[in-house]
Amino acid sequence: MQKIDLSVQEIIKSKWVVALTGAGISAESGIPTFRGKGGLWEKYPPSLFGNIPALTATFFLNPQKVVNFFTEIGEILTSACPNPGHLALAELERRGILKAVITQNIDNLHQEAGNKRVIEVHGNAYRWRCSSCGGKYFLEKKDLRRMIEEIQGERTSRLGLIRKIKSFIPPCECGGRRRLDVVFFGEFLPQKEINKAYRQLDRCDLLLLIGTSGMVNPAATLPSFAKERGAKIIEVNPSPSSLTHLSDYFLRGKAGEVIPQLLNTIKEIEEAK
Ligand code: NAD
Ligand code: ZN
Repeated sequence: MQKIDLSVQEIIKSKWVVALTGAGISAESGIPTFRGKGGLWEKYPPSLFGNIPALTATFFLNPQKVVNFFTEIGEILTSACPNPGHLALAELERRGILKAVITQNIDNLHQEAGNKRVIEVHGNAYRWRCSSCGGKYFLEKKDLRRMIEEIQGERTSRLGLIRKIKSFIPPCECGGRRRLDVVFFGEFLPQKEINKAYRQLDRCDLLLLIGTSGMVNPAATLPSFAKERGAKIIEVNPSPSSLTHLSDYFLRGKAGEVIPQLLNTIKEIEEAK
């Protein structure tokens, strides 16, 4: 039997299927992965752009570099749409097969595709978070796009840029300061989301591991948690990752091709019943 058919058999007989996704699932939506050739970190090294202290230091040395970083990433994110891989996962959830998506991505594409139960362990680029009370403030794609356009037009002084950036961030009702709700290098993961992820993985008997290199900790430890509790793992990736040794099935290929293939085979089996 082909690997795809065997994987489908596993999915069908499982009671609690969970997906764990990484940057690879969004590659076909035009969002480059971080690692590897052409990855974003090649252009924007984490030592200069990977967290808030590094970004602050880079900003004071060369504000335009930070503006370029945010506007480039912002343009990429706001131009992206869910691809067939995201859409197939949403359909699997609608059919009651997929129970949750745990994602390391910050691009909101799973929600845009229609998934309702999305656990974001690295935050979301369309959200501000209050540093004092933790309250969240959601942005629309068009809001982010407007900010990028305005900031691009602001090629004046550092002070002008700081004022402009501050004007985008509405103060929290509690008086606290808001920041982007994404996890930068060296920061803790949001505990509530991590707890939700562990609850899902504790319960899951089949994990779909899609488009992650398994190089970013602690997210990379999640698959072994599921494996230790008896879950089977189906990995989808064009090349082996550092988690492939945990996989029961390795489906080599792009998420946007392999996941729809899985979905279509499931549909055929269901329709033939
Ligand atoms: P990574 O960049 O370390 O690895 C990407 C993985 O995806 C690789 O294993 C690669 O072989 C695979 N891949 C490439 N194209 C693919 C495709 N079409 N289909 C399936 N797989 C494909 O990504 P990571 O493990 O998620 O770690 C990067 C971290 O950076 C993440 O934790 C995330 O927070 C952040 N990030 C997010 C985005 C996003 O939101 N879209 C993009 C880049 C990075
Ligand atoms: Zn607050």
